[in-house]
Amino acid sequence: MDMPSADVIVVGLGAMGSASLYQLARRGARVIGIDRYGPPHIYGSSHGETRITRQAIGEGAAYVPLVLRSHQIWRDLEAQTGTSLFWACGGLVLSGQVGQALHHGKPQFLERTLEAARQFGIAHEVLDAAQIQERFPQFILQGDETGYFEPGAGLLYPERCVQVQLKQAQRLGAVVHTGETVRRIVPLNDGVEVETDQTRYRAAKVVVSVGAWAAQLLGEPLAQVLRVYRQVLFWLEAPDPQVYGPERFPIFIWMFGSAEGEHFYGFPQVSQGVKVATEQARTPTHPDQVERQVSEAETWAFFTRYVQGRLKGLGPGCLKSATCLYTSTVDGDFILDFHPDSERILVASPCSGHGFKHSAAVGEALAGLALHGRSPFDLTPFRLAQRPVWG
Ligand SMILES: Cc1cc2nc3c(=O)[nH]c(=O)nc-3n(C[C@H](O)[C@H](O)[C@H](O)COP(=O)(O)OP(=O)(O)OC[C@H]3O[C@@H](n4cnc5c(N)ncnc54)[C@H](O)[C@@H]3O)c2cc1C
Repeated sequence: MDMPSADVIVVGLGAMGSASLYQLARRGARVIGIDRYGPPHIYGSSHGETRITRQAIGEGAAYVPLVLRSHQIWRDLEAQTGTSLFWACGGLVLSGQVGQALHHGKPQFLERTLEAARQFGIAHEVLDAAQIQERFPQFILQGDETGYFEPGAGLLYPERCVQVQLKQAQRLGAVVHTGETVRRIVPLNDGVEVETDQTRYRAAKVVVSVGAWAAQLLGEPLAQVLRVYRQVLFWLEAPDPQVYGPERFPIFIWMFGSAEGEHFYGFPQVSQGVKVATEQARTPTHPDQVERQVSEAETWAFFTRYVQGRLKGLGPGCLKSATCLYTSTVDGDFILDFHPDSERILVASPCSGHGFKHSAAVGEALAGLALHGRSPFDLTPFRLAQRPVWG
Protein backbone atom coordinates (compact mmCIF):
# COMPACT_ATOMS: atom_id res chain seq x y z
CA MET A 1 0.00 0.00 0.00
CA ASP A 2 1.25 3.52 -0.79
CA MET A 3 2.34 5.66 2.12
CA PRO A 4 -0.16 8.49 2.89
CA SER A 5 1.29 11.69 1.49
CA ALA A 6 0.73 15.44 1.57
CA ASP A 7 2.29 18.71 0.48
CA VAL A 8 2.85 19.60 4.14
CA ILE A 9 2.47 17.67 7.38
CA VAL A 10 1.89 19.66 10.57
CA VAL A 11 3.11 17.87 13.69
CA GLY A 12 1.45 19.18 16.87
CA LEU A 13 -1.96 20.87 16.59
CA GLY A 14 -2.02 23.34 19.47
CA ALA A 15 -1.93 27.11 19.01
CA MET A 16 0.79 27.19 16.34
CA GLY A 17 -0.12 23.92 14.63
CA SER A 18 -3.86 24.54 14.30
CA ALA A 19 -3.13 27.99 12.84
CA SER A 20 -0.57 26.54 10.41
CA LEU A 21 -2.92 23.76 9.32
CA TYR A 22 -5.72 26.25 8.68
CA GLN A 23 -3.53 28.67 6.74
CA LEU A 24 -2.04 25.88 4.63
CA ALA A 25 -5.50 24.48 3.85
CA ARG A 26 -6.73 27.98 2.94
CA ARG A 27 -3.94 28.19 0.39
CA GLY A 28 -5.13 24.97 -1.25
CA ALA A 29 -2.28 22.77 0.02
CA ARG A 30 -2.84 19.09 0.70
CA VAL A 31 -2.19 18.92 4.45
CA ILE A 32 -2.14 16.32 7.18
CA GLY A 33 -2.13 17.32 10.86
CA ILE A 34 -0.98 14.91 13.57
CA ASP A 35 -1.26 15.25 17.35
CA ARG A 36 -0.46 12.83 20.17
CA TYR A 37 -3.57 13.99 22.07
CA GLY A 38 -6.89 15.45 20.87
CA PRO A 39 -6.51 19.25 20.81
CA PRO A 40 -7.63 21.35 22.50
CA HIS A 41 -6.39 19.49 25.59
CA ILE A 42 -4.86 20.20 28.99
CA TYR A 43 -1.36 18.72 28.65
CA GLY A 44 0.47 21.41 26.68
CA SER A 45 0.42 25.21 26.63
CA SER A 46 -2.88 26.26 25.07
CA HIS A 47 -5.52 25.66 27.73
CA GLY A 48 -6.97 27.52 30.73
CA GLU A 49 -9.93 29.42 29.19
CA THR A 50 -8.23 32.75 28.47
CA ARG A 51 -5.07 34.35 27.06
CA ILE A 52 -4.02 37.99 27.13
CA THR A 53 -3.69 39.81 23.85
CA ARG A 54 -2.34 43.36 23.42
CA GLN A 55 -1.12 45.30 20.42
CA ALA A 56 1.85 47.27 21.75
CA ILE A 57 4.19 44.41 22.43
CA GLY A 58 6.73 45.16 25.16
CA GLU A 59 8.59 41.97 24.25
CA GLY A 60 9.81 43.70 21.05
CA ALA A 61 8.70 45.67 17.99
CA ALA A 62 9.10 42.63 15.70
CA TYR A 63 6.05 41.08 17.34
CA VAL A 64 3.67 43.96 16.63
CA PRO A 65 2.88 43.07 12.97
CA LEU A 66 2.19 39.48 14.08
CA VAL A 67 -0.34 40.47 16.72
CA LEU A 68 -2.05 43.07 14.53
CA ARG A 69 -2.53 40.49 11.80
CA SER A 70 -3.65 37.89 14.35
CA HIS A 71 -6.41 40.20 15.55
CA GLN A 72 -7.70 40.45 11.97
CA ILE A 73 -7.61 36.66 11.57
CA TRP A 74 -9.50 36.09 14.85
CA ARG A 75 -12.18 38.55 13.70
CA ASP A 76 -12.41 36.83 10.28
CA LEU A 77 -12.77 33.45 11.96
CA GLU A 78 -15.50 34.84 14.22
CA ALA A 79 -17.36 36.12 11.17
CA GLN A 80 -16.99 32.80 9.35
CA THR A 81 -18.03 30.59 12.24
CA GLY A 82 -20.18 32.67 14.60
CA THR A 83 -17.87 31.65 17.47
CA SER A 84 -16.66 34.38 19.79
CA LEU A 85 -12.87 34.23 20.10
CA PHE A 86 -11.63 37.68 21.13
CA TRP A 87 -13.01 40.10 23.74
CA ALA A 88 -11.43 43.55 23.54
CA CYS A 89 -12.11 44.47 27.17
CA GLY A 90 -9.00 46.71 27.39
CA GLY A 91 -5.65 46.00 29.00
CA LEU A 92 -3.56 47.67 31.70
CA VAL A 93 0.21 47.28 32.13
CA LEU A 94 0.96 48.55 35.58
CA SER A 95 4.24 49.26 37.28
CA GLY A 96 5.32 50.85 40.56
CA GLN A 97 8.41 53.07 40.82
CA VAL A 98 10.37 49.98 41.79
CA GLY A 99 8.37 47.70 39.53
CA GLN A 100 11.15 46.62 37.24
CA ALA A 101 10.71 42.86 37.51
CA LEU A 102 11.41 41.15 34.18
CA HIS A 103 8.32 40.20 32.22
CA HIS A 104 8.80 37.43 29.63
CA GLY A 105 12.52 37.91 30.07
CA LYS A 106 12.40 41.63 29.24
CA PRO A 107 13.36 44.52 31.54
CA GLN A 108 11.56 47.91 31.49
CA PHE A 109 8.41 46.24 30.22
CA LEU A 110 6.11 49.24 30.72
CA GLU A 111 8.53 51.61 28.95
CA ARG A 112 9.02 49.15 26.10
CA THR A 113 5.25 48.77 25.75
CA LEU A 114 4.82 52.53 25.56
CA GLU A 115 7.58 52.80 22.99
CA ALA A 116 5.91 50.15 20.80
CA ALA A 117 2.56 51.95 21.07
CA ARG A 118 4.12 55.22 19.94
CA GLN A 119 6.08 53.57 17.11
CA PHE A 120 3.01 51.80 15.70
CA GLY A 121 0.41 54.47 16.49
CA ILE A 122 -1.58 52.20 18.80
CA ALA A 123 -4.34 53.95 20.76
CA HIS A 124 -3.47 54.14 24.44
CA GLU A 125 -3.50 56.30 27.55
CA VAL A 126 -0.90 56.76 30.26
CA LEU A 127 -2.59 56.87 33.67
CA ASP A 128 -1.27 57.84 37.09
CA ALA A 129 -2.27 55.97 40.23
CA ALA A 130 -5.23 58.26 40.99
CA GLN A 131 -6.62 57.85 37.47
CA ILE A 132 -6.19 54.06 37.60
CA GLN A 133 -7.88 53.97 40.98
CA GLU A 134 -10.80 56.01 39.75
CA ARG A 135 -11.33 53.91 36.65
CA PHE A 136 -10.60 50.52 38.22
CA PRO A 137 -11.32 50.65 41.97
CA GLN A 138 -10.69 46.89 42.14
CA PHE A 139 -6.91 47.58 42.37
CA ILE A 140 -5.36 48.53 45.71
CA LEU A 141 -2.41 50.79 44.80
CA GLN A 142 0.57 52.26 46.66
CA GLY A 143 0.18 55.63 44.90
CA ASP A 144 3.42 55.62 42.87
CA GLU A 145 2.14 53.43 40.03
CA THR A 146 1.99 54.28 36.34
CA GLY A 147 -0.38 52.48 34.01
CA TYR A 148 -0.35 51.95 30.24
CA PHE A 149 -3.97 51.43 29.20
CA GLU A 150 -4.74 50.01 25.75
CA PRO A 151 -8.44 49.90 24.87
CA GLY A 152 -7.86 47.44 22.00
CA ALA A 153 -6.22 44.83 24.25
CA GLY A 154 -8.23 42.01 25.74
CA LEU A 155 -8.59 38.29 26.00
CA LEU A 156 -8.71 35.33 23.66
CA TYR A 157 -10.43 32.01 24.29
CA PRO A 158 -7.57 29.63 23.43
CA GLU A 159 -9.45 26.32 23.31
CA ARG A 160 -12.03 27.83 20.93
CA CYS A 161 -9.30 29.34 18.74
CA VAL A 162 -7.59 25.95 18.36
CA GLN A 163 -10.87 24.14 17.76
CA VAL A 164 -12.19 26.62 15.20
CA GLN A 165 -8.98 26.60 13.17
CA LEU A 166 -8.85 22.79 13.14
CA LYS A 167 -12.49 22.62 12.05
CA GLN A 168 -12.04 25.21 9.33
CA ALA A 169 -8.90 23.45 8.10
CA GLN A 170 -10.81 20.17 7.90
CA ARG A 171 -13.64 21.85 6.01
CA LEU A 172 -11.02 22.96 3.51
CA GLY A 173 -9.75 19.40 3.09
CA ALA A 174 -7.07 19.00 5.78
CA VAL A 175 -6.82 15.52 7.28
CA VAL A 176 -6.38 15.39 11.06
CA HIS A 177 -5.02 12.41 13.02
CA THR A 178 -5.27 12.64 16.81
CA GLY A 179 -4.01 10.15 19.38
CA GLU A 180 -0.98 9.53 17.17
CA THR A 181 2.56 10.35 18.28
CA VAL A 182 5.31 11.31 15.86
CA ARG A 183 8.50 9.45 16.72
CA ARG A 184 10.90 10.56 14.00
CA ILE A 185 11.19 13.02 11.15
CA VAL A 186 13.62 12.00 8.44
CA PRO A 187 14.60 14.42 5.65
CA LEU A 188 15.08 12.71 2.28
CA ASN A 189 16.39 14.04 -1.04
CA ASP A 190 12.93 14.50 -2.50
CA GLY A 191 10.84 15.07 0.62
CA VAL A 192 10.53 14.12 4.22
CA GLU A 193 9.27 11.04 6.02
CA VAL A 194 7.29 11.27 9.24
CA GLU A 195 7.26 8.15 11.35
CA THR A 196 4.55 7.81 14.02
CA ASP A 197 3.65 5.14 16.56
CA GLN A 198 1.12 3.90 13.96
CA THR A 199 2.43 4.43 10.44
CA ARG A 200 4.67 6.47 8.13
CA TYR A 201 3.81 9.48 5.98
CA ARG A 202 5.57 11.38 3.19
CA ALA A 203 5.43 15.09 2.45
CA ALA A 204 7.38 17.81 0.70
CA LYS A 205 7.66 19.83 3.96
CA VAL A 206 6.95 19.40 7.65
CA VAL A 207 5.95 22.05 10.18
CA VAL A 208 6.96 20.97 13.68
CA SER A 209 4.87 22.77 16.29
CA VAL A 210 5.05 20.39 19.23
CA GLY A 211 5.42 23.06 21.95
CA ALA A 212 6.98 21.69 25.13
CA TRP A 213 7.97 18.46 23.35
CA ALA A 214 10.23 20.19 20.77
CA ALA A 215 13.49 19.17 22.41
CA GLN A 216 12.27 15.61 22.80
CA LEU A 217 11.31 15.22 19.14
CA LEU A 218 14.03 17.30 17.49
CA GLY A 219 16.93 16.85 19.94
CA GLU A 220 19.84 19.25 19.48
CA PRO A 221 20.09 22.08 18.68
CA LEU A 222 16.60 22.73 20.12
CA ALA A 223 17.34 21.00 23.42
CA GLN A 224 20.10 23.43 24.32
CA VAL A 225 18.05 26.57 23.74
CA LEU A 226 14.75 25.49 25.35
CA ARG A 227 13.58 24.89 28.88
CA VAL A 228 10.14 23.82 30.03
CA TYR A 229 8.62 25.39 33.15
CA ARG A 230 5.47 24.43 35.03
CA GLN A 231 3.11 27.36 35.59
CA VAL A 232 -0.05 27.49 37.68
CA LEU A 233 -3.33 29.30 37.03
CA PHE A 234 -5.75 30.11 39.86
CA TRP A 235 -9.45 31.03 39.64
CA LEU A 236 -10.19 32.98 42.80
CA GLU A 237 -13.57 33.63 44.28
CA ALA A 238 -14.92 37.15 43.66
CA PRO A 239 -17.38 38.93 45.95
CA ASP A 240 -19.88 39.52 43.16
CA PRO A 241 -19.54 38.40 39.51
CA GLN A 242 -20.24 41.94 38.30
CA VAL A 243 -17.29 43.57 40.11
CA TYR A 244 -14.61 41.89 38.01
CA GLY A 245 -16.71 41.47 34.85
CA PRO A 246 -15.16 42.42 31.44
CA GLU A 247 -17.32 45.54 31.20
CA ARG A 248 -15.64 46.91 34.33
CA PHE A 249 -12.24 45.28 34.61
CA PRO A 250 -9.39 44.88 32.07
CA ILE A 251 -6.75 42.22 31.58
CA PHE A 252 -3.72 43.39 33.54
CA ILE A 253 0.01 42.79 33.96
CA TRP A 254 1.39 44.24 37.19
CA MET A 255 5.08 44.63 38.00
CA PHE A 256 5.01 45.60 41.69
CA GLY A 257 8.67 45.09 42.58
CA SER A 258 12.08 44.51 41.06
CA ALA A 259 12.93 41.09 42.47
CA GLU A 260 12.46 37.89 40.52
CA GLY A 261 8.81 36.92 40.30
CA GLU A 262 7.48 40.26 41.56
CA HIS A 263 4.85 40.48 38.86
CA PHE A 264 1.53 38.83 38.15
CA TYR A 265 -1.33 39.09 35.70
CA GLY A 266 -5.04 38.53 35.56
CA PHE A 267 -8.28 38.61 33.61
CA PRO A 268 -11.80 39.86 34.04
CA GLN A 269 -14.26 37.25 35.19
CA VAL A 270 -15.63 35.30 32.22
CA SER A 271 -16.47 32.05 34.01
CA GLN A 272 -16.47 30.92 37.62
CA GLY A 273 -13.87 32.96 39.49
CA VAL A 274 -11.27 35.52 38.45
CA LYS A 275 -8.20 34.00 36.81
CA VAL A 276 -4.85 35.25 38.14
CA ALA A 277 -1.32 33.87 37.82
CA THR A 278 2.35 34.64 37.95
CA GLU A 279 5.28 33.07 36.10
CA GLN A 280 8.24 31.08 37.32
CA ALA A 281 11.52 30.39 35.52
CA ARG A 282 13.46 28.84 38.41
CA THR A 283 12.61 25.13 38.26
CA PRO A 284 12.58 23.42 34.88
CA THR A 285 10.51 20.30 34.28
CA HIS A 286 9.88 17.64 31.63
CA PRO A 287 6.57 17.74 29.71
CA ASP A 288 5.84 14.08 30.49
CA GLN A 289 6.67 14.35 34.19
CA VAL A 290 4.93 17.53 35.26
CA GLU A 291 3.29 17.68 38.69
CA ARG A 292 -0.31 18.41 37.64
CA GLN A 293 -1.70 18.68 41.18
CA VAL A 294 -1.78 22.12 42.76
CA SER A 295 -1.49 21.93 46.54
CA GLU A 296 -3.37 24.06 49.04
CA ALA A 297 -0.02 25.40 50.27
CA GLU A 298 0.84 26.51 46.72
CA THR A 299 -2.51 28.29 46.38
CA TRP A 300 -2.15 30.00 49.74
CA ALA A 301 1.44 31.09 48.96
CA PHE A 302 0.27 32.60 45.66
CA PHE A 303 -2.64 34.39 47.29
CA THR A 304 -0.58 35.93 50.08
CA ARG A 305 2.38 36.98 47.90
CA TYR A 306 0.41 38.41 44.97
CA VAL A 307 -3.28 39.01 45.49
CA GLN A 308 -3.73 39.90 49.15
CA GLY A 309 -3.62 43.67 49.52
CA ARG A 310 -3.64 44.25 45.74
CA LEU A 311 -7.06 43.12 44.44
CA LYS A 312 -10.09 44.09 46.47
CA GLY A 313 -12.29 41.29 47.75
CA LEU A 314 -10.63 38.57 45.66
CA GLY A 315 -9.96 35.18 47.28
CA PRO A 316 -8.63 33.54 49.36
CA GLY A 317 -11.19 30.97 48.19
CA CYS A 318 -9.87 29.25 45.06
CA LEU A 319 -12.53 27.67 42.85
CA LYS A 320 -10.09 25.80 40.64
CA SER A 321 -6.49 25.74 39.46
CA ALA A 322 -4.61 24.32 36.49
CA THR A 323 -1.03 23.71 35.43
CA CYS A 324 0.31 24.70 32.04
CA LEU A 325 3.74 24.69 30.37
CA TYR A 326 6.00 27.52 29.28
CA THR A 327 8.76 26.46 26.90
CA SER A 328 11.25 29.26 27.13
CA THR A 329 14.35 30.49 25.41
CA VAL A 330 16.96 32.40 27.43
CA ASP A 331 15.93 35.77 25.98
CA GLY A 332 12.21 34.94 25.83
CA ASP A 333 12.11 35.30 22.03
CA PHE A 334 10.46 32.90 19.59
CA ILE A 335 11.97 30.36 17.24
CA LEU A 336 10.31 30.42 13.81
CA ASP A 337 12.85 28.99 11.40
CA PHE A 338 13.95 26.16 9.18
CA HIS A 339 15.72 23.35 10.99
CA PRO A 340 19.49 23.76 10.51
CA ASP A 341 19.74 20.20 9.08
CA SER A 342 16.99 20.56 6.48
CA GLU A 343 15.06 23.21 4.60
CA ARG A 344 12.20 20.70 4.55
CA ILE A 345 11.61 20.98 8.29
CA LEU A 346 10.16 24.15 9.80
CA VAL A 347 10.26 24.70 13.53
CA ALA A 348 7.44 26.72 15.05
CA SER A 349 8.00 26.34 18.67
CA PRO A 350 7.96 27.45 21.25
CA CYS A 351 6.88 30.77 22.50
CA SER A 352 8.20 31.43 25.98
CA GLY A 353 4.83 32.10 27.56
CA HIS A 354 3.66 34.84 25.20
CA GLY A 355 2.87 33.09 21.92
CA PHE A 356 -0.86 32.70 21.86
CA LYS A 357 -1.72 36.24 20.82
CA HIS A 358 0.60 35.90 17.79
CA SER A 359 -0.32 32.36 16.83
CA ALA A 360 -2.88 33.08 14.09
CA ALA A 361 -0.30 35.11 12.13
CA VAL A 362 2.47 32.64 12.93
CA GLY A 363 0.32 30.12 11.05
CA GLU A 364 0.30 32.47 8.07
CA ALA A 365 4.07 32.96 8.30
CA LEU A 366 4.71 29.23 8.37
CA ALA A 367 2.31 28.50 5.54
CA GLY A 368 4.16 31.08 3.44
CA LEU A 369 7.55 29.60 4.32
CA ALA A 370 6.45 26.02 3.72
CA LEU A 371 4.77 26.68 0.37
CA HIS A 372 6.78 29.54 -1.13
CA GLY A 373 9.91 29.87 0.99
CA ARG A 374 8.93 33.32 2.24
CA SER A 375 6.85 34.82 5.02
CA PRO A 376 4.73 37.99 4.94
CA PHE A 377 6.45 38.99 8.23
CA ASP A 378 10.08 39.63 9.03
CA LEU A 379 11.15 36.52 10.90
CA THR A 380 14.86 37.32 11.15
CA PRO A 381 14.62 38.12 14.91
CA PHE A 382 13.22 34.60 15.45
CA ARG A 383 16.07 32.61 13.93
CA LEU A 384 17.21 29.59 15.86
CA ALA A 385 20.87 30.61 15.53
CA GLN A 386 20.12 33.83 17.40
CA ARG A 387 18.85 32.09 20.51
CA PRO A 388 21.43 31.85 23.30
CA VAL A 389 22.16 28.47 24.85
CA TRP A 390 20.94 27.84 28.41
CA GLY A 391 23.91 27.79 30.84
C1 LIG B 1 -0.03 29.43 31.94
C2 LIG B 1 0.19 30.03 30.57
C3 LIG B 1 -0.26 31.31 30.35
C4 LIG B 1 -0.04 31.92 29.11
N1 LIG B 1 -0.53 33.17 28.89
C5 LIG B 1 -0.42 33.73 27.67
C6 LIG B 1 -1.08 34.95 27.39
O1 LIG B 1 -1.77 35.51 28.25
N2 LIG B 1 -0.93 35.48 26.15
C7 LIG B 1 -0.20 34.86 25.18
O2 LIG B 1 -0.08 35.40 24.09
N3 LIG B 1 0.41 33.68 25.41
C8 LIG B 1 0.31 33.10 26.63
N4 LIG B 1 0.88 31.88 26.88
C9 LIG B 1 1.70 31.26 25.84
C10 LIG B 1 0.89 30.54 24.80
O3 LIG B 1 -0.25 29.97 25.35
C11 LIG B 1 1.82 29.54 24.14
O4 LIG B 1 2.91 30.25 23.55
C12 LIG B 1 1.11 28.75 23.05
O5 LIG B 1 -0.09 28.25 23.50
C13 LIG B 1 2.05 27.64 22.61
O6 LIG B 1 1.42 26.91 21.58
P1 LIG B 1 2.13 25.69 20.89
O7 LIG B 1 1.35 25.38 19.69
O8 LIG B 1 3.61 25.96 20.76
O9 LIG B 1 2.04 24.49 21.98
P2 LIG B 1 0.79 23.56 22.32
O10 LIG B 1 -0.47 24.31 22.19
O11 LIG B 1 1.11 22.89 23.62
O12 LIG B 1 0.78 22.48 21.16
C14 LIG B 1 1.74 21.49 20.99
C15 LIG B 1 1.03 20.25 20.50
O13 LIG B 1 1.97 19.30 20.04
C16 LIG B 1 1.48 18.02 20.38
N5 LIG B 1 2.61 17.09 20.35
C17 LIG B 1 3.71 17.12 21.13
N6 LIG B 1 4.58 16.15 20.79
C18 LIG B 1 4.02 15.48 19.76
C19 LIG B 1 4.45 14.39 18.96
N7 LIG B 1 5.63 13.79 19.15
N8 LIG B 1 3.61 13.93 18.00
C20 LIG B 1 2.41 14.54 17.77
N9 LIG B 1 1.97 15.59 18.50
C21 LIG B 1 2.77 16.07 19.47
C22 LIG B 1 0.85 18.22 21.74
O14 LIG B 1 -0.08 17.20 22.05
C23 LIG B 1 0.21 19.58 21.59
O15 LIG B 1 -1.16 19.49 21.19
C24 LIG B 1 0.67 31.23 28.09
C25 LIG B 1 1.12 29.92 28.33
C26 LIG B 1 0.86 29.32 29.55
C27 LIG B 1 1.34 27.91 29.78
